[in-house]
Amino acid sequence: MAEGQEPHGKFATRCIHAGQSPDPTTGAIMTPVYMTSTFVQASPGVFKDGYDYARSKNPTRTALEANLAALEDAGPEGAGLVFSSGLAAMDCVLHQLRAGDHVVLSDDVYGGTFRQLDKVYRHLGLDVTRVDMTNLDLVRGVMKPTTRLVWLETPSNPMLKVIDIAGVKRVVEGASPAPAPGVRSAELGPLGAPIEKPLLLVDNTFASPYLQNPLTQGADIVLHSCTKYIGGHSDLVAGALVTRSAALAERLRYVQNAVGAVPGAMDCFMMLRSTKTLHVRMQRHCDNAMGIAQWLEKHPRIEKVIYPGLASHPQHALAARQMRAFGGMISVVVKGGLAPSRRMLERVRLFSLAESLGGVESLIEHPAIMTHASIPAEARRVLGIDDGLVRLSVGIEDAGDLVADLERALS
Ligand SMILES: *Cc1c(COP(=O)(O)O)cnc(C)c1O
Repeated sequence: MAEGQEPHGKFATRCIHAGQSPDPTTGAIMTPVYMTSTFVQASPGVFKDGYDYARSKNPTRTALEANLAALEDAGPEGAGLVFSSGLAAMDCVLHQLRAGDHVVLSDDVYGGTFRQLDKVYRHLGLDVTRVDMTNLDLVRGVMKPTTRLVWLETPSNPMLKVIDIAGVKRVVEGASPAPAPGVRSAELGPLGAPIEKPLLLVDNTFASPYLQNPLTQGADIVLHSCTKYIGGHSDLVAGALVTRSAALAERLRYVQNAVGAVPGAMDCFMMLRSTKTLHVRMQRHCDNAMGIAQWLEKHPRIEKVIYPGLASHPQHALAARQMRAFGGMISVVVKGGLAPSRRMLERVRLFSLAESLGGVESLIEHPAIMTHASIPAEARRVLGIDDGLVRLSVGIEDAGDLVADLERALS
């Protein structure tokens, strides 16, 4: 995090205070849940602080958006925008594109991300290329004059590949974009301006803002599925975008209002409650995961442990440089493939067998059967998603109890 750029103090202080001040009417220390759809105007078109209709703006959401902007180090011009899901946040970004634009994706992006591009937006004739972004030469090789968006996840899911954000930014800056085509009209409002340089978007869901702030490394947009670590308690679905650019924020805000995938006030309140403990939760997720990864690496029934904090991880040095700690996600290959890994998943008691991640409770899942089943077997093989691969979302329970649970399940 850039020193001298901490308008609300250090990260822990920002978690608790950024964007929030006592309620002006009562002094309530917690931002109230503004359950209202509209706001009374003093005179036609005269509204208080821009609050006219709650799709456009709601005070509980405004507080959360400012909080997330501060946590992602969005700077004085930047902004956060919150959506009803991570994929709704993605949709807001894709609405910035035009027919024929080229999009570059990291090869093992979240399945729902690929589905939206490949199925929902197919009519737009987007040209989509997936590439292993751990190799910057491969990224350089796929850039085209029509590339308008470069989209990456780091660490990735479920292989926990770590991508050099600043390195990809250098590749994007070195590209020579063609003038943006299409109708560019003042009638389109903020969407009328062409996207001159390819946008770099980092899906920061797996790391959370506690571990890395991609905007400080050159990303134009950070995306979160707040359903995961930001919400952190497996009790809501939401998404967010954060940018340092006022112009980009204006375009995104325009679509957020015009398309309308906004979250309810209660969900925003719950997320504000969650971000107050984000730093404490994340540190425990990281500590627990590191201990479990080291223990698993010595276990005779485990063939391989994939965790960015282990020296055996192929991008360990990069992770140590780019991230403040290594996160709460671990993938392991169980010796013997499908049958022993299925047995392990059936025998855990403290780990819950479920999709999703990032909550305080530990989850375990089998990517080839569950989260990544829609990927054809051959493509799974290329990505390294083995039939013995098991993914752990390590929670913040007692680390010894978690190890004991895995020990019993593997024995
Ligand atoms: C869950 C997830 C999403 C999608 O978010 P939703 O809130 O489920 O819509 C996007 N990216 C990553 C990395 C995710 O894990």
